[in-house]
Amino acid sequence: MIAFCQQIREKGCGHVTRMGALILLAALSSCLLFACNQREVPEAPFTHSFIAMDTPMTVKLYATDQQTADEAASACEKYLHELDVLLAPENPQSEIALLNESSGIPVVVSPLTYNLIDKAVDVARETNGAFDPTIYPLTSAWGFTDGNHQVPSEKSIEELKNLCDFNAVKTNAADSSITMIGQTQIDTGGIAKGFAAEQLTELLAERGIDTALLDLGGNITALGTKPDHTPWNIGIADPITPDKLAGTLELQNATVSTSGAYQRFFTDDDGTVYHHIIDPTTGRPAETDLISVSVIGTDAARCDALSTALYVMGCTRALEFCSACKTSENDAIQAVLITKDATIHVTANLADTFIPAEAYAAKTVIEP
Ligand code: AMP
Ligand code: MG
Repeated sequence: MIAFCQQIREKGCGHVTRMGALILLAALSSCLLFACNQREVPEAPFTHSFIAMDTPMTVKLYATDQQTADEAASACEKYLHELDVLLAPENPQSEIALLNESSGIPVVVSPLTYNLIDKAVDVARETNGAFDPTIYPLTSAWGFTDGNHQVPSEKSIEELKNLCDFNAVKTNAADSSITMIGQTQIDTGGIAKGFAAEQLTELLAERGIDTALLDLGGNITALGTKPDHTPWNIGIADPITPDKLAGTLELQNATVSTSGAYQRFFTDDDGTVYHHIIDPTTGRPAETDLISVSVIGTDAARCDALSTALYVMGCTRALEFCSACKTSENDAIQAVLITKDATIHVTANLADTFIPAEAYAAKTVIEP
């Protein structure tokens, strides 16, 4: 840039033509923009932890000063609590509760809820119902929505399975209304955290913060780069020993969403473990060869819903699904799948991004 300015001067500032003046102006404003982009970002983040959506969350912000960081962090927390109120099916005032009680009558919802449900139904179609936001009758019967865990009877599982059908959710963009045919009921638990990460990204951008790490319980969003301009290193928990890492990802302006049986489960009197990711075809916790699925991408809500879906599919189907989506660069699914035999399957598009932990190095397969 300096060289460019110099060149203009050498060509004779005394005879600056109109075009020359314009170029000079453009160059100067670019210099200014460049200077703005290089604004000082402190090396140490401002960290704020809290509980929202029933999950511990942490936002690490790189703001110019403590006050900006504190205000932004409080705004994030407040926003997540508001989202919680809007989306919790157990809260009778929530829009989801209204929808769940609507029995076929169209309900006009806020643009936020509309967008979330529209996105959820899109992923349900894309995954042929492996991700199904109408899973609420089942997740509720198993007690995953309110913590009253129990094993439902075979008969009630069969009955409740028939109530789950994402095709029964009709969205109408013209008036932002949603019609739930029959007794369909929604559970946004498999997509809400990713969706929340998108909203927080916007909220922070409005406050001039574009360098941050948002850890929303299983969903980590890396905004910008580290202060030294290198990508963030984000760990994927080892599902067998969750306080250790199975590997790390180098991320920049992207989200990694992880779903795993180890994240939420209960143990029956006879010692059987039941986890929270339900296979809509069986009505029971998904029994697959997977123990952890991470999906990486720029659309945080879609990553969240897809990580739940891939978990339900099992390793072979999930890998086929990821490669079937490789028709266009935008749709390519990036995933790290960990199977019960402790093998890590990494999609080819993450070959340069995922670094396995030492214990997994010999058991990591980069898929073709
Ligand atoms: P995640 O941790 O993102 O995999 O989401 C799991 C949560 O999503 C569960 O706690 C349920 O609230 C909900 N859920 C469980 N199974 C499914 C499914 N097959 N499709 C959509 N949501 C699900
Ligand atoms: Mg999910």
